[in-house]
Amino acid sequence: ATPISTMIGVGKAAEHGVLVRSGDALQTASKLTTLVVDKTGTLTEGKPEVTESEVLEGEEREMLSLVAALERGSEHPLAAALMDHAEERQAEPGEIRDFDTVTGGGVKATTADGGALLLGNARLLEEAGIDLASGRELARELEDKARTVVYLAVDDKLTAMFGISDPLRHDTIAAVKRLQADGLKVVMLTGDNEHTAGAIAREVGIDDFRAGLLPEDKHAEIERLQREGEIVGMVGDGINDAPALARANVGFAIGQGTDVAIESAGITLVRGSLHGVAAAIEISRATLTNIK
Ligand code: ADP
Ligand code: MG
Repeated sequence: ATPISTMIGVGKAAEHGVLVRSGDALQTASKLTTLVVDKTGTLTEGKPEVTESEVLEGEEREMLSLVAALERGSEHPLAAALMDHAEERQAEPGEIRDFDTVTGGGVKATTADGGALLLGNARLLEEAGIDLASGRELARELEDKARTVVYLAVDDKLTAMFGISDPLRHDTIAAVKRLQADGLKVVMLTGDNEHTAGAIAREVGIDDFRAGLLPEDKHAEIERLQREGEIVGMVGDGINDAPALARANVGFAIGQGTDVAIESAGITLVRGSLHGVAAAIEISRATLTNIK
């Protein structure tokens, strides 16, 4: 494509709220064969809310004050949901020590009297040897409703569980259909568990997804697709998406996402909609491949 047709394409994209950092990114967009999308904050609004709360052991207020204390130190979107929930139930953050975050799993600390605290996904608790049997039935029920399940363990015992709902963006289903109609294979990658991920993928109409991924796994998955000959676009919003956005042939960052994601991507979706990806691809095909 000529520099002029590229400029026209970049201008047209901007009219659709699609900010293109380089002409190269727009040119490559016309060649994409696979589009990888993050779940939380990309397909979904990324504004999770606690919708179910079940205390299995101990007093509710006490458990929630531990949850608030643990999540106060986390920047994960789930942390804000759990903090709000604790606040609504008038639970003040309790005193904890030795706080730490566990990437892809949750948070941990100890109580003032030295008891172990763990808050996060099933894998985090299972790896610490905690028995989740008493919560299995509820977990399955929540996961079937596409909830993310967060578990609290105190002194190595499962004590509370939370169902967290993160609604789809209003236009996610339509935008994914449009991308598929444009001939792209759409693949969802997420750090969330298999069952919840499957429920969301079905709702959106995506057949291909991988769950339980760490940030480096998202990056590795893109490399694997590229080795198979796919030209890969990646859409994401979070710090955990940055390596994958940088690795993809074209990275698309959600405009409301973290700065790190935006800096790692060649294209920014100002309106946060996947329709912006489709618009970029369609404009790229129309203006850059036909005008020689
Ligand atoms: P994603 O946000 O795409 O799910 P992450 O790697 O950030 O990926 O997190 C993976 C999983 O770890 C989350 O789905 C959640 O189950 C758990 N998790 C991470 N941080 C927290 C936290 N602060 N509180 C509770 N759970 C967490
Ligand atoms: Mg995300």
